[in-house]
Amino acid sequence: MAKKGLLMCVCQGNCPSFQQMNIFEVGNAIRREKLVDYIAIHPQLCATDGDKFLTTLLQGDSTEQLYVAACDPTMQVKMYRDAMEAAGFSKENIHGVDIRNMSTEQAVEAIKKMLSA
Ligand code: SF4
Repeated sequence: MAKKGLLMCVCQGNCPSFQQMNIFEVGNAIRREKLVDYIAIHPQLCATDGDKFLTTLLQGDSTEQLYVAACDPTMQVKMYRDAMEAAGFSKENIHGVDIRNMSTEQAVEAIKKMLSA
């Protein structure tokens, strides 16, 4: 069955934009409520290995909708374009939210808002 997934990306974990939140607790809050089928944290989705990760994850039809909590959503689509094309995954099925400079609670709320849109 096609699934909904949430990826969180944190600029290698050392960028000041992600220091105000506990990214693990953000993921825990979403998974406790079973709002998606799977959750993963990637250190740097826009790096070459991030491309490979996305292509591997999205090929086939197991993921129906992919949600990404990271940096600017417009930039995300541009940065992930090659990986999505390689996987044959439509950009209509990827949804992004910017969680930079948010607290844990703010990031959770922003993700929930994206998931319910
Ligand atoms: S995708 Fe965005 S959040 Fe992730 S490493 Fe690249 S710039 Fe940082």
